[in-house]
Amino acid sequence: MVRSRALYFDGHELRLIDDHVVERGGEALIRVGLAGICGTDLQILRGYASFRGVPGHEFVGRVVESDRSDLVGARVVGEINAACGRCDMCAVGLRRHCRNRTVLGIKGRDGVFAEYVRLPVENLHRVPDSVEDERAVFTEPLAAAFEILEQVHVDPSWRTCVVGDGRLANLIAQVLRDRVWKLKVIGRHQRKIGLLRELGIEAVEGVEPGDESSYDLVVEATGRAEGLSLALRLVRPRGHLVLKSTIASEYRIDLAKVVVDELHVVGSRCGPFRPALSALSSGSIDVRRLVDGVYGLEEFRDAFAAASSRGTLKVLLRP
Ligand SMILES: [Zn+2]
Ligand SMILES: [Zn+2]
Repeated sequence: MVRSRALYFDGHELRLIDDHVVERGGEALIRVGLAGICGTDLQILRGYASFRGVPGHEFVGRVVESDRSDLVGARVVGEINAACGRCDMCAVGLRRHCRNRTVLGIKGRDGVFAEYVRLPVENLHRVPDSVEDERAVFTEPLAAAFEILEQVHVDPSWRTCVVGDGRLANLIAQVLRDRVWKLKVIGRHQRKIGLLRELGIEAVEGVEPGDESSYDLVVEATGRAEGLSLALRLVRPRGHLVLKSTIASEYRIDLAKVVVDELHVVGSRCGPFRPALSALSSGSIDVRRLVDGVYGLEEFRDAFAAASSRGTLKVLLRP
């Protein structure tokens, strides 16, 4: 057991505590090096998932205690869903959908906005030496971007559109960039659009003539409820729509277009770590330009204010 400084959410507000108890149990104890603030964390502070405890699920850290002695001292990232290994979903290999799962900083398990965190050993992945902490901390959101390739058989001939220009949308666009014939990002912020263009990705502000009902694949990653109705307008008949936003409020949409146009609608959440780590290692995905600031835990109010502001991409905490 260790006592740790941590950010604690009591259902109303986030505050810094210095006596957060982390019991290792049979799991690995990890000293968090860097943690990322993502849209899901901002939604949690608005009531998403009714979470109480220490939020945060994107991290890189070092194992300080584990029953697996070879892991002690290793720099790791961690998958966020802890599975039971016994239910019907686990039995068919869908551990990320385990019926009894806990989810790091989201459901039934304290997260990484803390000095120390625990996770099952099977959730951990060693980080190659070539990937420094500032890039490794992007493994989890990048894995969520790679999940799209697991769920949809993306054809290289497809016209593809990403709706949104934020941190996750940027990663998704970088993953899809070399896999489709045509890719366009529809964003709202000049700075974020400019960054996508620097990465060689076509990015525009708002819908253009000819966009409606024209894309084979549309990925909605705005983090806002309004993003879905815009994304729906862009998909061609029999096209694919992937939904990436997790939001606290309810979606309200007219499903008639889904029926009439016979759309394939896919919800998409967490993804595979291996391709994410190898893309970071090879440099095929550029994440360094996404970091807007690194804050200590005691500066958490500034960090969350920055993460919530419109022009910001990724804000990191160094616990
Ligand atoms: Zn996240
Ligand atoms: Zn299970």
